[in-house]
Amino acid sequence: MPIVNRVADLQPDIQAWRQNIHEHPELMYDVHRTAAFVADRLREFGCDEVATGLGRTGVVGVIKGRKPAANGDIKVIGLRADMDALPIKEETNLAYASKVPGKMHACGHDGHTAMLLGAARYLAETRNFAGEAVVIFQPAEEGGAGAVAMIKDGLMDRFAIDQVYGMHNGPGIPVGSFAIRSGPIMAATDSIDIRIEGLGGHAARPHKCIDSVMVGAQLVTALQSIVSRSVDPLDSAVISICEFHAGNARNVIPQTAELKGTVRTLTEEVRELIEKRVREVVAGVAQITGAKIDLEYQRGYPVVVNHVSQTDVATRAAKEIAGEANVHEMPPLMGAEDFAYMLEQRPGAFIFCGNGDSKGLHHPAYNFNDDAIVYGTSYWIKLVENTLAA
Ligand SMILES: [Zn+2]
Ligand SMILES: [Zn+2]
Repeated sequence: MPIVNRVADLQPDIQAWRQNIHEHPELMYDVHRTAAFVADRLREFGCDEVATGLGRTGVVGVIKGRKPAANGDIKVIGLRADMDALPIKEETNLAYASKVPGKMHACGHDGHTAMLLGAARYLAETRNFAGEAVVIFQPAEEGGAGAVAMIKDGLMDRFAIDQVYGMHNGPGIPVGSFAIRSGPIMAATDSIDIRIEGLGGHAARPHKCIDSVMVGAQLVTALQSIVSRSVDPLDSAVISICEFHAGNARNVIPQTAELKGTVRTLTEEVRELIEKRVREVVAGVAQITGAKIDLEYQRGYPVVVNHVSQTDVATRAAKEIAGEANVHEMPPLMGAEDFAYMLEQRPGAFIFCGNGDSKGLHHPAYNFNDDAIVYGTSYWIKLVENTLAA
């Protein structure tokens, strides 16, 4: 079955919302305009309830089906989109490019928001399901854990959500295709902050110093040995030290150095192993060099783990929209997503919707592909109508 016919009629409206949101990007929790835009549309569509201010600026719309769900059936399905943009200077030359200097919808959250609005409009019009569809628009996906803020404000219990689904656009995946997998699909992300206190001095008298640059270099190398020598080669892990700050003169051994990096893992076991080994390596390098090394190891977003039977449900809905041959099983990505927190609360699944041959996510010339709108929006609708069959 192809896309939902009515969605093709709605496409111009959804595209216009998408481009409007694109022109006015907002960061983190500061998505007031976007949230107001979303809430206004949801009220226009006739949602049974529109709640604002969850997780500071999150918005939730409730759409009741023609009849309540039968006893024993799933009663409430949650569909989640994200609203925030990135601190990137847009370089797309689009007519509707960002009007806000230094901010840009470079992750396609403008498209996610517009597609979920499109689905909400259709569902409120047709109500061809039993139970309730809850549309969730969250702030601060890009590093602010907006999902957690909404959960803390009672998202799951207040709306009695039974299952929750998420979607992201996927550059490199053809438009009209979807990609998904059961189990871990995106990585946990933890951060490493290291401050080395050596002993500065004259470059010609190293024996009177503790060289913080050499200590840092040893750390960078030793930390890489964790992935190559401590983690099972059949498991996946990344440690990337991406900042190394030290020194400002060629003839001075600097007193201090700072390193910053990120750790990505796909299971809780590997995540714990790496944290333990990072602590041991830092302590060991401190001991052999005599430097004082402070380590701050912070846990970020957990692994996005798709639940088995909900992945089947999502795959079936996607195949009904895109065709059997256009829904692919994908390998996990080492990027992160705070939808992970929602999947810790309720069973569900996260899927990628093809964005075609666009620039990658977070690239200054990236743009959400409006041709994907009909597929993503139809997927949401199909997911609700299948899960809450009337
Ligand atoms: Zn992003
Ligand atoms: Zn994103």
